[in-house]
Amino acid sequence: MVAWDIRVQSVVPKRIYLINPKTPENFWAMQGTLDIVGKHKTLMPNAALLTLTALTPPDVDVVYEFCDENLAPARLDLACDLVAITGYTLQAERMQAVSAAFRKRGVPVAVGGAFATLEPERARPMADHLFLGEAEETWPRFLRDWLAGQAAPLYQQAEFVDLATSPAPDLARVKATDYLYFSVQTCRGCPNNCDFCDVVRLVGRKFRTKTIPQILREVKNAHACGAETVFFSDDNFFINRAFTFELLRELVAWNSTLDRPLSFSTQATVQIGADEDLLKLLADARFSVIFLGLETLSKQCLDEVNKGQMARFDPREVIPRISSYGIMPFLGMIVGFDHDTTAVFSDVEEFLDETGSPIASISVLNAPKNTALYRRMQAEGRLQEEFRGFWHLTTNIIPKQMTLQELYLGHKALFQRLYEPERFERRMIKWLANVRYMTGIYSTRKKTLYRLFLILRVARHFLFRVPPDVRRMFWNVVKAAYRTNPKLISRAVSVLVQYWHYYSFAGREQRGEREHRVGEMKSSG
Ligand code: SF4
Repeated sequence: MVAWDIRVQSVVPKRIYLINPKTPENFWAMQGTLDIVGKHKTLMPNAALLTLTALTPPDVDVVYEFCDENLAPARLDLACDLVAITGYTLQAERMQAVSAAFRKRGVPVAVGGAFATLEPERARPMADHLFLGEAEETWPRFLRDWLAGQAAPLYQQAEFVDLATSPAPDLARVKATDYLYFSVQTCRGCPNNCDFCDVVRLVGRKFRTKTIPQILREVKNAHACGAETVFFSDDNFFINRAFTFELLRELVAWNSTLDRPLSFSTQATVQIGADEDLLKLLADARFSVIFLGLETLSKQCLDEVNKGQMARFDPREVIPRISSYGIMPFLGMIVGFDHDTTAVFSDVEEFLDETGSPIASISVLNAPKNTALYRRMQAEGRLQEEFRGFWHLTTNIIPKQMTLQELYLGHKALFQRLYEPERFERRMIKWLANVRYMTGIYSTRKKTLYRLFLILRVARHFLFRVPPDVRRMFWNVVKAAYRTNPKLISRAVSVLVQYWHYYSFAGREQRGEREHRVGEMKSSG
C-alpha cells in the first residue's frame, strides 16, 4: 500500500487510513459480469473517500492511505493515527467489525457516509467521531480540530453544501483496471419525495448542481485515468432540462474528438422517454444504459407511495422509445405494494416481453428506516422492526394482499423466469429490432490490445463455460444483432455479459439461498 502525501510540513505527519469496507454480495455488485471481464475487480472507485483527500486543506499536514476492501481486505494491524470509514447500510456489519478492530488497538475511528447519516443511532456506537451529512465543510474543520487535539464526537452538516465548492475526487492513485466504471456526480437533491426513498433525507429536495466546467473536468480526469465508462451517479440525472442539455452538448462535442470515446450511464425517471430531443442528445453523447425507476405499472401503487406524478408517462410508449435511440433501459421495478395482488408477477413479465426490455431489477418493496413509508407501516402495525434480511429480496413490510410467502415465492419465480435464456433472448431480439437511431460514434471504439483480450475472454466464457441453452442464446442474439445492424454487435455483447450476472444470481436463488428467510418470516405473513 503506498502512502499518499498531500503535503509534508513536518517530519512525522499524522497518518489517516481511509477504508471503504467490503460490500456483501448483492444484486447490484455485478459479480457475474466481473467474473467474465476478469481484469476488473470491482464496480467503481469510492468517490466519497477520494473526495476527502481532495478536501484536505493545503496547510493541514496529513498522509493518507486508502483501502477499498472490494479489492483487498483492510490491514487491521496498520500503524495509523486515525481510521475513517464510509459506507452504505449494506456495509454496516463490516463497518462495525473494522471499527472494532482498530478501536481495540486504541486507534480512533471516524465514521460517515450514507449509513451514518441515515441511521446515526446504529453508527454512533462504532465511532469516536461521527459525521452526519455531506462532508465538504465538516472534514476540513475536523482535520484542523483533530490536529489541535480538539476533535469533537459529532460533526453534523447543518445545511446542504454548495456543490460548486466541491472538489473533484483525487484519482491520483486509482488504477482504472481495478474498476468496471468510474463515477461522476453532477447534482444532488431530488424535488420529488417518494415515500420509500431515503435520497431526500440524504441530499434534500433542493436540486443542486456542480458547474458544467467542474463536471467536464471530472469526466476528463476519469478518461485520463483510463476509464471506458462513466456512470453519472446522480439519483435523478434529468431534473433541470436546460442544465442537462447544456451538459450533454458539451459531452457530445468533447467525446466525438476522442480516439477512445467514453460511454455513459446514469439513473433517471421514465419521463425522459417523453422527450425525443433529449433522447437524441443522449444517444449522441454515447449513453448506453439508463437505469429507470419505473417501480410499478399501476397508478394506484404509484399514488400509494407519493410517486403518482409519474403515472402520466405510459411505460408502454416511453420504454420502446428510449430503446429506439439505442439506449438500453434498465428497469427498476418493485413488487409488494399494498395494491399489488399475486397477479403482479405475470403483469410485470408480460410488460417486459411486450416492450422488449431485456434487463430489469425486480425488488420487493422495503421501508427504509425513517422514511414516510416506514412511519406508515409502523402506524399500521405492519413493520418488522428487527428485520435483517437481504435487501431487495426480502422485506420489513407485512404485505396487504398476499402473504409474505406468496410475495417471496412469486418474486423469486418471476426473477428466475425472466432470466431463463429463451425468454431473455426473445426480449433482447425485440430490443434490437426497436433500435432506430444510432450515431456514428457507436462504431468508433478504438481497437486496443485490451479490447482484444476482452473479446477473447467473453468468447471463451460463452463457448466453454456456460450451459448449452445459454450458449445457444448468446449466438442467437449475436446473429440477430448482426442482421439488424452490425454496429449493434458490441452493444449486444456487453448486455450479454451483464446477463450472465442476472442468470447466475437467479441460479443462486434457485439453489435456495433465501429459503431460510422465508421460513423465518412465515409466521408474520
Ligand atoms: S425514488 Fe427517485 S424520484 Fe423518488 S424521491 Fe427518490 S430519487 Fe427522487
